[in-house]
Amino acid sequence: MKGKISNQFFRNYLIIFCLSILAAVLVYLLSGFTNDIISKTLVKNIYPASLLMKDDYTDIDAEPVVRNGGGIQVINDRYEVVYSKGLDTIGTERLTVSEFTQFLIRSKEKGHQYSYDILYNPQGGFWLIVTFPTSIRLDISFVYNREAVPKDVKNVSLVFAAIIVLYLLMLGLFAVVFSRISSVSITKPLKMLLTGTKRLREGDYSARVNLNLKNEFADLQDTFNDMAQKIETEISLREQAELERKRMIMDISHDLKNPLASVVGYTELCLQKTDESDKSLRDYLKIILKNSRRASDLLNDLFEFAKLESADYSIKLLKTDICEYLRQACGDLLPMLEQAGFDYNFNIPEEAVYVMLDTVQMNRVLYNLTDNLIRYNPEGTSLIVSLYEEHDNAVIIFKDNGIGIPSDIVNNIFKPFVRVDDSRNSQTGGTGLGLSIAYKIIRKHGGNIDIQTDLNQGCTFIITLPKK
Ligand code: ADP
Repeated sequence: MKGKISNQFFRNYLIIFCLSILAAVLVYLLSGFTNDIISKTLVKNIYPASLLMKDDYTDIDAEPVVRNGGGIQVINDRYEVVYSKGLDTIGTERLTVSEFTQFLIRSKEKGHQYSYDILYNPQGGFWLIVTFPTSIRLDISFVYNREAVPKDVKNVSLVFAAIIVLYLLMLGLFAVVFSRISSVSITKPLKMLLTGTKRLREGDYSARVNLNLKNEFADLQDTFNDMAQKIETEISLREQAELERKRMIMDISHDLKNPLASVVGYTELCLQKTDESDKSLRDYLKIILKNSRRASDLLNDLFEFAKLESADYSIKLLKTDICEYLRQACGDLLPMLEQAGFDYNFNIPEEAVYVMLDTVQMNRVLYNLTDNLIRYNPEGTSLIVSLYEEHDNAVIIFKDNGIGIPSDIVNNIFKPFVRVDDSRNSQTGGTGLGLSIAYKIIRKHGGNIDIQTDLNQGCTFIITLPKK
């Protein structure tokens, strides 16, 4: 950003410099042109010495010269001022040779206040000096004579070229310095605003900008700060509402757990006590029992999920040998697997690998994965559980060769209430919360759970836990 703006400034300044040079050249040409027009109207050119000259200087008509503010002097061979009318810049009646020479030299100087036209009359043996006060004079001139020796032309051209190169270098240097300095006044506030915007994007809603400026950037700063303030208020209101929602779900699921457990318990009791012959009543009670068990499962999972989402809830981590733990946990899962007629193979290294673990919560993860495996896959499906170390992590692989999960749903499978088609689930039960609970638990361990699967490709769950 910074580079681009200062480059833009650099280009602008170069354009301005070039345009100003062009303007100077145009003005120079124009002044030459107007000079030709104006010089014809100047009195000094209307009354030149050549026009006024007479062989007898007493015949010279000084009147128009004097009327126009000028003067006429005549100096003879002995450097005596023998005739003087009007303006007199010589100021003496007799000059020495050197004074007269000095006068002639000075009369040609450009910065002079007067313009002199001096003409010698060989017949009369005198100089006629016509003097007019200079109105305004600006001398810019360029002279080139083809007859000059080539060496001189070359030397002077080199000096000119060197001056032009030096001028261009200085021009470039000044343009760079100037563009850097002037772009800072734009890039600095822009940078500060950008930093504020980035902080906002990264979720730091307390970000505010203070530029200490009074220009348009100050308006932008105020707008930014207002916007940040509004976002901060909105977000905190939303967070508050989200917290209240989570707490409500947790409270409701908790409060409904006990009444529902009692519905399940009493329905079981009623079923035991109902006479075998009363078939229709037993059927009704079985339906009540089935549905209340389902509702109870859902409430239990909902409560667990809400608990894990709550900010106040933290898991109890202890430094544990994950290999030792996994051997034991897999052993606990054996009855479930064997009863369902599933094959299994556990590949867990002998040496200790330590991680921070809440074993109760990890039991829940493994239970949910095994429960899903048994619930959604046919008898004879096999499960492989293995563990290996990778960089700073312990990686647990939980892999089956069952029916898998279609790829269109797999990206959302760890989100709550995401399930493969309902027909699959209506027969198998399930709440749609098992994998999201597992995900929350692993994230609370500072780890990650991922899945590789496709329809009829089996499911591979990859659990990564940071080593201690
Ligand atoms: P549910 O309570 O429905 O089991 P989960 O979050 O535990 O909810 O699982 C989400 C869905 O993922 C399940 O409905 C099931 O269709 C699918 N699923 C999970 N594990 C497996 C598996 N091992 N094999 C096939 N499908 C699975």
